[in-house]
Amino acid sequence: MRIGIDLGGTKIEGIAIADDGGVRLRRRIPAPRGDYHHTLDAVAALVRAIEDEVGVGGTVGVGIPGTMSKATGRIKNANSTWLNGTPLSDDLARMLDRPIRLANDANCFALSEATDGAGAGAAVVFGVIIGTGTGGGVVVDQRVVAGANGIAGEWGHNPLPAPRAGELPGPPCYCGRLGCIETFLSGPALAGDYAASGGPPVTAKEIAARAAAGETLAIAALERYEERMARALGSVINLLDPDVIVLGGGLSNIARLYERVPQLWAPYIFSDVASTRLLPAVHGDSSGVRGAAWLWGPSDQGLGTGD
Ligand SMILES: [Zn+2]
Repeated sequence: MRIGIDLGGTKIEGIAIADDGGVRLRRRIPAPRGDYHHTLDAVAALVRAIEDEVGVGGTVGVGIPGTMSKATGRIKNANSTWLNGTPLSDDLARMLDRPIRLANDANCFALSEATDGAGAGAAVVFGVIIGTGTGGGVVVDQRVVAGANGIAGEWGHNPLPAPRAGELPGPPCYCGRLGCIETFLSGPALAGDYAASGGPPVTAKEIAARAAAGETLAIAALERYEERMARALGSVINLLDPDVIVLGGGLSNIARLYERVPQLWAPYIFSDVASTRLLPAVHGDSSGVRGAAWLWGPSDQGLGTGD
């Protein structure tokens, strides 16, 4: 059995996936915000509760809103800031008496979709969660590519490619730079662009609904958004050449993206034919916790269980 834990800022979710790929159990508990030791206790208790209920031990994979530094083994870049600087993996391994695998939540999303989601069977999958941010993950042959610095797939903090007049220097990003892809493609970015063009202050979801209803301003905002996404993903395709790009997060529900963006990215791709498929996530919000479970892959059978 594989146990996946998704360590969010407000909730901790657990899942048990049997060897046949079927989900045995799901549990969701509130996250002890701001308290590392209570977070450890909560995760360990959740794993034990899942094992008690299913009656079998499992491997444990954990998705976190940050990364683990290869140099120190400690968490960095987590927006759940009480995790930063902690040896989360080592502490959980000691408490649960087994090795723990830890990965960024966007990497878990990509792994879930590559394992049995929209990218099932594809060799190279790029997964993106477009919501409040634009986190991304790379999976090759059903394994996460973490990278030397633990940041593989973080396309969102590259500058928007081929910037137009009016896109330079670009909006300020929380990372300290200007004009990051995230400042154009996140949900708040779409809302901001729409408002700047004269629209009311509404959410990205509402803009999509207004565009579907034929509102000119909303359609224009989505057209700008799609063209920017085409440029941004075009450079990902040139670098990684994924078979499938999977979108998750709130903006992945905008159906027209999957038809429009691939029509627009050809001029930015160094190939006469671009067969890359752009697809919505199959597992939706569950992909984070499913991918955490899949951090222990098919070749890991029998390793790292609590038995
Ligand atoms: Zn940035």
